[in-house]
Amino acid sequence: MRLNLPLTGAEELAAVAEVLESGYLTQGPKAATLEALVNDTVGTEHAFAVSSATTGLHLALVGLGVKPDDEVIIPDFSFPATANVVVQLGAIPVFVDIEPDTFNLAPALLEAAITPRTAAIMPVHAFGLTADMDPINHIAAVHGIPVLEDAACALTALYNGRPAGSLGTAGVFSFHPRKIITTGEGGMITTNDSELAARMRVLRTHGAVRDGLFMSFVDAGFNYRLSDVHAAIGIAQMAKLDHIVGRRQTLASALTERIGSVEGVTAPVVPEGSRHSFQSYVVTLDEDIDRDAVICEMRELDVETTLGTYSMHLQPYFRERFGIPDEALPNATRAHRSALTLPLYPQLSESDVDRVAESLRLAVERVRSAPAAARR
Ligand SMILES: *Cc1c(COP(=O)(O)O)cnc(C)c1O
Repeated sequence: MRLNLPLTGAEELAAVAEVLESGYLTQGPKAATLEALVNDTVGTEHAFAVSSATTGLHLALVGLGVKPDDEVIIPDFSFPATANVVVQLGAIPVFVDIEPDTFNLAPALLEAAITPRTAAIMPVHAFGLTADMDPINHIAAVHGIPVLEDAACALTALYNGRPAGSLGTAGVFSFHPRKIITTGEGGMITTNDSELAARMRVLRTHGAVRDGLFMSFVDAGFNYRLSDVHAAIGIAQMAKLDHIVGRRQTLASALTERIGSVEGVTAPVVPEGSRHSFQSYVVTLDEDIDRDAVICEMRELDVETTLGTYSMHLQPYFRERFGIPDEALPNATRAHRSALTLPLYPQLSESDVDRVAESLRLAVERVRSAPAAARR
């Protein structure tokens, strides 16, 4: 059983064929339609289709005015693109620890991380569970600092009934095949801030504005557009969004029920008032269980699993540059070693979910009964 499979078929194929036949391939009417669909879903006024969530985060940070030597606060536990875009700006990522149960930035640690150089706070909605945005927004507002949601995994996630992507100054979604919907590669920025929107619109396309017959280049911008070939796939995917979300919710509930009885395994939590998108279904293993050995045992049982995500301060680039000790970021360090992602996607059946839970139970049992040396 694969860890993940995108839900693409005849609809996406037809959508791509239509664009190719039209002769208009770069960003155009399809991207505009996809932007409108995402705005509708997220409840924002402005949406910008971009070539990936990574380029979207970069564009949004530039739009927010983050400059070299500024600091940007991020949780330590995320896909490293979150920190890379900060480094690409010449700014400094400031890693804050997470809450162990939600994997999200710990608001209680935020205040102490703020300095006069803090230019943005970038909470991540880990695996599709929104960060605790009310306290984060409150602290940000007190200091006048913008909040950029890394909502890469969180399309359809809700925080106290409000959609991810509408909770901060701006939000960024990913359309990578591992995410809720896909365009192959792609992403979307959402915001209600009209001035930020105006800056991002120009920066996304070479810093160019139309000026009579030609273009006038008013800024040194990027080409971070999403092509209409990709956007057409996204439109077909958006038609399946309700189905995708429904299946993910149903399967996640089923999996949580079955995993409840597996000793040494903690199922993901969903705080009151939140809707988890379940982009990834991530459990935590007790500290005495060798997570990597469980991954190998599950592979033997033909169930593909992987780590949760990365504690970024442990990665060679960030370790060499910042040298942050593990004790400073204990929860992220532990999540890096003990979190485990299980297969969960709309194509799975309830009996597949049974198999995932049963394989996990078996794998944990085997790892616990055999010392690592004996297994190898
Ligand atoms: C996937 C992901 C990204 C990067 O998304 P791309 O569209 O592949 O650039 C960034 N942040 C988080 C939290 C992600 O999960």
